[in-house]
Amino acid sequence: MFIISSKTMLKKAQQEGYAVPAFNIHNLETLQVVVETAAELRSPLIVAGTPGTFSYAGVGNIVAIASELARSWNHPLAIHLDHHESVSDIEAKVSAGIRSVMIDGSHLPFTDNIALVKRVTDYCHRYDVSVEAELGRLGGQEDDLIVDGKDALYTHPEQAREFVEKTGIDSLAVAIGTAHGLYTAEPKLDFERLAEIRQCVDIPLVLHGASGLPPQDIKRAITLGICKVNVATELKIAFADALKNYLSAHTDANDPRHYMVPAKTAMKEVVRKVIADCGCEGKL
Ligand SMILES: [Zn+2]
Repeated sequence: MFIISSKTMLKKAQQEGYAVPAFNIHNLETLQVVVETAAELRSPLIVAGTPGTFSYAGVGNIVAIASELARSWNHPLAIHLDHHESVSDIEAKVSAGIRSVMIDGSHLPFTDNIALVKRVTDYCHRYDVSVEAELGRLGGQEDDLIVDGKDALYTHPEQAREFVEKTGIDSLAVAIGTAHGLYTAEPKLDFERLAEIRQCVDIPLVLHGASGLPPQDIKRAITLGICKVNVATELKIAFADALKNYLSAHTDANDPRHYMVPAKTAMKEVVRKVIADCGCEGKL
């Protein structure tokens, strides 16, 4: 009962004008940080994992740890499948207790993307599982998914309308100039396009690649219909840098109960900052 779909929380965000953060997690420690911080700030929470993350940590392990953290903090949350592409993989994870799914057919031709997403949506809605899909392509790299900058295509507003109508999805990830990973040049988001998409589509919109975006860009995107903000790279860097600094300063350290603490503290600061940028504190 503590692991919920993201449908209701995103609808509430849309109605009240804020965004729900989706934090990519990888293990016990990163799950502890995001659930604890969201609980302290009474923020709605989506914890996300790519196929690579679920293979690494184990679907059952992630569901069990997230469920227990949600129960002990009395804080319902969604576990979200980030950038999943296989129907059978999604079905297996839904039966393992996942209630929030992204089916990523954005690399497919438009009609094939619709067919794949419709199939997943029909399946997921039978189990009260929410579905996100992507139209257009983000540049950058997320796990095994690499999109060259010149292949990145922005979402077309009229296509978005048709895509949402034909698939029945609950939220739409848009490509408006963000990228996965870190930005090598200052990102220039296409806010006009986002406003046009909003005119054509009335479901919650999702912003991928928010690591390193200026807070004012995130806030402006939220005023134009973004209801979910995905953050992965920024969390990994904060955690790893603090861990590296601690271990190089304490070369004899061998106790994870000690050397994980500064890493978790550094990651927690990023989670707090994202929750502030999303305007979702107190919105649980
Ligand atoms: Zn993404």
